[in-house]
Amino acid sequence: MALIATTSARSLPRADVLILGAGPAGTIAALNLAAQYRVLLVDRVAVPANRIGESLPPACRRLLADMGLFEEFLEQAHSPCYGNRAIWGGPLTEHDFLSDPDGNGWHLDRARFESWLRCKAVERGAALIAPTDVADVAATESGWRAVLVIGGQTHSVDSTVVIDASGRNAVFAKKHGARRQRQDRLISIWCYGADQAALSDGRSFIEACAEGWWYSAVLPEQRRVLAFHTDSDLPAAKALRQPGALLRAASQLPALGPLLAEAGFSQDSAIKLAAAHSAVLNPGAGINWFAVGDAALSFDPLSAQGLFNALYTGLAAAEASDRALRGDARASADYNAELHRIAQAYRHHLRYWYGQERRWPEAPFWRRRQERVSG
Ligand SMILES: Cc1cc2nc3c(=O)[nH]c(=O)nc-3n(C[C@H](O)[C@H](O)[C@H](O)COP(=O)(O)OP(=O)(O)OC[C@H]3O[C@@H](n4cnc5c(N)ncnc54)[C@H](O)[C@@H]3O)c2cc1C
Repeated sequence: MALIATTSARSLPRADVLILGAGPAGTIAALNLAAQYRVLLVDRVAVPANRIGESLPPACRRLLADMGLFEEFLEQAHSPCYGNRAIWGGPLTEHDFLSDPDGNGWHLDRARFESWLRCKAVERGAALIAPTDVADVAATESGWRAVLVIGGQTHSVDSTVVIDASGRNAVFAKKHGARRQRQDRLISIWCYGADQAALSDGRSFIEACAEGWWYSAVLPEQRRVLAFHTDSDLPAAKALRQPGALLRAASQLPALGPLLAEAGFSQDSAIKLAAAHSAVLNPGAGINWFAVGDAALSFDPLSAQGLFNALYTGLAAAEASDRALRGDARASADYNAELHRIAQAYRHHLRYWYGQERRWPEAPFWRRRQERVSG
């Protein structure tokens, strides 16, 4: 489906809401606003690429159902995720989603998921322009004026509200005085590959080691993601980026090593690196602007809550934008308060989970986290 709709005019029609970033958070905000408002959604990437971040937790079922998306989501044939197994703080433990009131979660084909969300936003009436570079967004008397570079040409567009959905870049919010408070230095070193044997029981696998922790999950079409998480300044962060090092280190792990061998896993992508630290944007909203998803709150992948947060805050910011457009002066303050509540709950859970692993108290990765648990 062609989602690129460029125009030769220098000035684009006014929008009620301009959304910067068409990832999960931006598309959810767009599709919830588009029935009532003129929504312009822009992204610097023409077509979503596959990337890490594929575990969709069971609670997303309710959000998708509330937005009238769940039945169609199921037709996308992502792999069900029935729980996880972990070597975390001691011997193997299993957490089964059978006991979860929302049932199973999913391991997504991430590119397929994001492309589908973009299509839904367009179907519901949003205009999507991608690829677009956002050169500038400045305040005007009636809202905002953005300068967009589309196909090498510069265009301007006025809007009343801006939603910053640009992920960890938070391109708009940072430029307009908000600060991203980074809470650690976590990075993810990861790769894709294929399993030769179809052994998957639909569970994610996590294994802690002295230098950090590992994650692996089977994706649709017998694909597998393998990832290692550590702090960017620790020696393992450099060592495991070298060719072949990630798979070599993984195959020596007591539990993940045999699992990968049994699955016949072979790496078929280059090693990739992603920022994975926790961060909070302060403030997460102001007069006629709102930050959503990772732009507002970036979560440690251990939580597996980043996508839920993107969907939830995308919806919450759509509601807040609706209030702002109707002249409700409390819209930003209330949205900020909601972000604050989410950040507190997240911090509490993360401390709890890192506090469960105490086997390497002297290792810098774990010492830093224990200090935060007791701090
Ligand atoms: C290693 C790792 C593993 C993860 N695993 C999981 C997991 O298993 N489960 C889970 O729920 N979450 C996971 N996450 C988190 C999850 O991927 C994010 O929380 C989620 O992608 C946030 O969605 P978003 O829409 O806010 O931001 P993004 O997905 O980052 O989307 C931002 C969009 O903005 C666009 N953009 C950026 N800058 C600009 C610009 N200047 N102009 C225009 N467009 C721009 C980008 O192209 C992109 O499309 C993981 C994250 C990491 C780093």
